[in-house]
Amino acid sequence: MAEKKVSNAEIASTLFEIADLLELKGVAFKPRAYRSAAQTIEALGEDITDIAERGELEEIAGVGESIAGKIRTVIDQGNLPYLDRLREDMPEGVRELMELEGIGPKKALFLHRKLGISGIDDLEVAAKKEKVRELEGFATTSEQHILDAIEVWKERHERFLLGYILHDAEAIERKLREHDAVKKACLAGSIRRRRETVGDADILVATDEPETVSHFFCSLPEARRVVMEGPKRCTIVVARNLHVDLRVIEEEQFGAALQYFTGSKAHNITLRKRALDHDWKLSEYGLATRDGGDIVAREHEEEIYEALGLAFIPPELRENRGEIEAAEEGTLPALIEYGDLWGDLHAHTKWSDGAHSVREMAEAARDRGWEYLIISDHSGGLAIAHGLSEGDIRTQGKEIEKVNRELEDITVLQGIEANVDKDGTIDVKKSILRDLDFVVGSVHSGFKMTEKEMTERVVTAIHQDHLNMIGHPTGRLIQKREPYALDLDAVFEEAASVGVLLEINAFPTRLDLSDIHCRRAHDAGVMLGISTDAHDTDHLRFLDLGVAVARRGWLEAGDVINTRSLDELRAWLKQ
Ligand SMILES: [Zn+2]
Ligand SMILES: [Zn+2]
Repeated sequence: MAEKKVSNAEIASTLFEIADLLELKGVAFKPRAYRSAAQTIEALGEDITDIAERGELEEIAGVGESIAGKIRTVIDQGNLPYLDRLREDMPEGVRELMELEGIGPKKALFLHRKLGISGIDDLEVAAKKEKVRELEGFATTSEQHILDAIEVWKERHERFLLGYILHDAEAIERKLREHDAVKKACLAGSIRRRRETVGDADILVATDEPETVSHFFCSLPEARRVVMEGPKRCTIVVARNLHVDLRVIEEEQFGAALQYFTGSKAHNITLRKRALDHDWKLSEYGLATRDGGDIVAREHEEEIYEALGLAFIPPELRENRGEIEAAEEGTLPALIEYGDLWGDLHAHTKWSDGAHSVREMAEAARDRGWEYLIISDHSGGLAIAHGLSEGDIRTQGKEIEKVNRELEDITVLQGIEANVDKDGTIDVKKSILRDLDFVVGSVHSGFKMTEKEMTERVVTAIHQDHLNMIGHPTGRLIQKREPYALDLDAVFEEAASVGVLLEINAFPTRLDLSDIHCRRAHDAGVMLGISTDAHDTDHLRFLDLGVAVARRGWLEAGDVINTRSLDELRAWLKQ
């Protein structure tokens, strides 16, 4: 897939949607401004990305500073936090309807109020029963259009971003574990391996009371719909239309089933071959001899690996990328653990395009038990919404000092996420950078360069004074934008030699560097940093996703800078 440019039509529809949402909220005047800007952009004879690149958005009729900022954010990030927040104010089922092409907030709310529809499943049933056509403004053609849009939506939702579903799936796993009749419960499949995208969620349980547990599972408040309920297997549909499968397993076979259903396929195929070498057979029911079927191991995963002469392989490594050989030789890495991080290196506040204040972000970080939070808002280059000016940076510094005086158990450091210009320079003066605790350099615009040009740009950035970390180094947005052309090995080599960090950006749409890239970066001698790129206090929970990427990238605690305490981090930065 080639890099997908944001089209004029997409920008226009974003602005139309903002207008509708503001109107539904009863906001005066603004809706009209958004609508007229949207109409102008729809009719433009030139690509809006080109206009943005020239820094001339505000020359478009009806586009003021604020709308221009939002357009730039959509172009750079592929999403718009402001719009997400407006959507969040709508009832949940209505929000889901709005994900369908052609269904704006007004239509969604209308369907909700008139037919009680709260979700795409509901709407599909109503449209198939021809109930929608009875509504004013929804003719038969529009009913067909809805069904078509649902098909498109389903295709697009075949795989979910890990970060958007992991915590919901874990909550269900936890509820099952806490149930009296459940002896064991564990997520399996790609979600347990923490793959960056996931098709559905599998949970295995061991219990003596299958019917009680199945019924409990199907009655969970998270279940929007029950697809299947049986004593051995159930499927429910939860938020975002994620299917969650429950399988009831005999306790004595639990390890074998967990191993089998965790995958990956490639890992299991190699493991089964290994079992055959011993004249054993490995299946979801256990590791057994081939002739008599005597059980060798099955209750615990560890026993299966041990019987096969292997060290236990953590789920994140089970991709058949050399982990079985390493487990045999005893050279598996001692993976970084989920609790190993002391703080976050990259987060935004209201000073740029974040939703919360420095203090709110600091309190949320403190409540997570972190020792430090680096606030790195956007710099004020052309390309980014609400970037900080030099004056802003100084004022923000004072605010951070104040928060540090007032709050205990958390230290806020002042960083910045500066733009890496096309020539590789940083768009903030050295005299300003010098006084900051941490400098992230990120490519936010001008993605359409040749590999040679882009590599030169990033390598030049690595050599800029005061730069500590390259943010989201490949620029990819999962399922939305391919990485820009870049010779990563050249970047790794340069970053390693200069001692600049490369980021594992843990934001669900980014996960950039990816697992495979992390491993290559580490092999080249690069130190990595994990950060959330939070634009909201709630986003701080994504830090674990970065650890998951690091684990899938075979990293140990020592390979990641923020497994260090504040004092150690400061000492490292001084070097
Ligand atoms: Zn960024
Ligand atoms: Zn950022």
